[in-house]
Amino acid sequence: MPLSEFSLIQRFFTKQQITNPSTRLGIGDDCALLSIPEGFELAITTDTMVENVHFFADADPELLGHKLLAVNLSDLAAMGAKPVSVTLALTLPKVDENWLAAFASGFLTLAERYSVDLIGGDTTSGPLTLTVQALGLVPKGRALLRSSANPGDFIYMTGALGDAGLGLKIKQGYNCEHPQAALTRFNRPEPQVEAGLALSGIATACIDLSDGLAGDLGHILQQSRVGACLDWDALPLSTAVQAYINDTGDWVMPLTAGDDYELCFTVSPEQAKHLTIPATKIGIIESQAGLRLCKSSVIQPLEVKSFEHFS
Ligand code: ADP
Ligand code: MG
Repeated sequence: MPLSEFSLIQRFFTKQQITNPSTRLGIGDDCALLSIPEGFELAITTDTMVENVHFFADADPELLGHKLLAVNLSDLAAMGAKPVSVTLALTLPKVDENWLAAFASGFLTLAERYSVDLIGGDTTSGPLTLTVQALGLVPKGRALLRSSANPGDFIYMTGALGDAGLGLKIKQGYNCEHPQAALTRFNRPEPQVEAGLALSGIATACIDLSDGLAGDLGHILQQSRVGACLDWDALPLSTAVQAYINDTGDWVMPLTAGDDYELCFTVSPEQAKHLTIPATKIGIIESQAGLRLCKSSVIQPLEVKSFEHFS
């Protein structure tokens, strides 16, 4: 007999001990209860992943559990918030116990790494759809917004650019000599939680790279009413991504491909000296609107758009 909704929740999602001091009440009642320490604000984000839109039908459930949580923790990181707890809404076409066990393992292993409590959720039947709401704490007034970049600020990013995009190309049939690192970056993104926390009070604006650098940085530019120039030669491209560009001529890919989940942020030149995290300076904020790329000593407008649903 298939598991009932309640025993499914019991079996797969209530194993975890409550570990975060902000959690007053976890799974089991009509609501969870959180306490917010004096001097902090609650940062809240939601991300949904839909089968055949965000992941392939044959996706490894453990990696999916990891990625679903990772993309939500990445949003908290981009605000400079410390993750505290999450809720999980699952819509499942059927109860597949092996699938659920692997999914829960991927999800809860990452949660435990950051002392994030799973405090509730919902379980329904329907086309496979996975939704997380993540809650984090940020000192009052210290959240890293998209709207406060200033002309003259340096633009930085953590990690490397385009490896997840290369991973997707490999999944779609591109023949890469050393595919493993790129595939891992696509399948198993790591949220830049520590980097986000270290940027609080230093960065003027921040965003996580989920939809592609050009589009995501574009959000900072629009909301801050500024422009920017990126330096092609400074972009942190792995040897695999460089080989892909040499091979295909497709140099736009790293600028537009999503799923890297690195942080892109802006810092004033004075504050840049106080950066304590590894990051690469990739450009500069300018007062002239629009995004430009300086490549081979030529400055060209970058009008590339990132992935959008409904368009
Ligand atoms: P209600 O009918 O009040 O919404 P449910 O029967 O849906 O309650 O859920 C019972 C408890 O289990 C609640 O505390 C809810 O937050 C939690 N829960 C339900 N589904 C999940 C899930 N997928 N993951 C974690 N907690 C869940
Ligand atoms: Mg419910």
